[in-house]
Amino acid sequence: MEKPVVGFIGLGIMGKPMAHNLLRSGYALVVHNRSRSAVEELVEAGAWAAHSPAEIGRQSGLVITMLPDGPDVEQVALGPDGLIHGLAPGAIWVDMSTIAPAVAIRAAAALREKGVLCLDSPVSGGELGAIDATLSIMVGGEAEVFNQARPVLEALGQTITHCGPSGAGQTVKACNQIMVALHIAGMAEALVLGAKAGVDPSVLLQVLGGGLAQSRLMDARGPKVIRGDFAPGFKARLHFKDLNITLQAGAELGVPLPVAGLVRELFSALLAAGRGEWDHAALITVLEDLARVEARTRE
Ligand code: NAP
Repeated sequence: MEKPVVGFIGLGIMGKPMAHNLLRSGYALVVHNRSRSAVEELVEAGAWAAHSPAEIGRQSGLVITMLPDGPDVEQVALGPDGLIHGLAPGAIWVDMSTIAPAVAIRAAAALREKGVLCLDSPVSGGELGAIDATLSIMVGGEAEVFNQARPVLEALGQTITHCGPSGAGQTVKACNQIMVALHIAGMAEALVLGAKAGVDPSVLLQVLGGGLAQSRLMDARGPKVIRGDFAPGFKARLHFKDLNITLQAGAELGVPLPVAGLVRELFSALLAAGRGEWDHAALITVLEDLARVEARTRE
């Protein structure tokens, strides 16, 4: 199959490097974003600009959205100037944002009525994974559409998995976000306890990183945390959003998620402290406030 023109909407922390990777892989790319500076950067790199989702839809064989939350996706897909008014029958829409499975299913159903092929396709791997094109991509939708879209996804990630029908990608992502949240909370408690006892946090990271406690999250975020660097790779308010999605799914399915619920409340405290735009690893600051200690390295 010939390479389709790819449309990309949502050029934030994740979307911008992903769009660059599509250009690097030789895709003709048309981009749109609410604020325009990232659009200009992509145009300089070889993409061209559109001014609405409908315009993106009219020019693309496959459109990727990478937006903050469900309401943003619904507006971009179904709003007055939405994709639904531009995409032709047979075109593919791949939503890579993290949103509630129920919203993903609803939006896809509306576009499918117009003959558009839809995948929910959230990602894991963070900003670095987006930059290096090593994302883990979890896909819900028809297997045939997955196979059609796969070459495009291969420009963005390494582990690309068809998880099941529409909504299944978002369900897997909801599970993923439990694990990531718990790794963050576990690392935070360990660092705060050690710091209060007078152990240098860099020693803790070194030792924990060499044993069963090792985690990719700790490897990626630990060194930043102990330097007090909370510039966002993944904004705390977006992880809070994800835990709400997870708990909602648990409530709908009758699955108690007590530990995720507790960590959600810690994120709620972080947001209440005005730190929602900080990185999600800033969760440690809630525990530091409680213990009246800061887990910062002396180096
Ligand atoms: P982000 O930095 O806030 O980027 C979101 C982008 O969407 C921004 O550029 C924003 O434009 C744009 N946008 C919002 N509403 C729009 C609209 N109506 N029309 C056009 N553009 C619009 O968020 P992110 O970190 O890239 O995350 C994006 C999604 O990926 C989220 O669902 C998140 O949960 C998920 N995710 C993130 C990570 C991570 O590590 N960051 C990892 C895995 C998954 P403005 O410039 O105007 O704000």
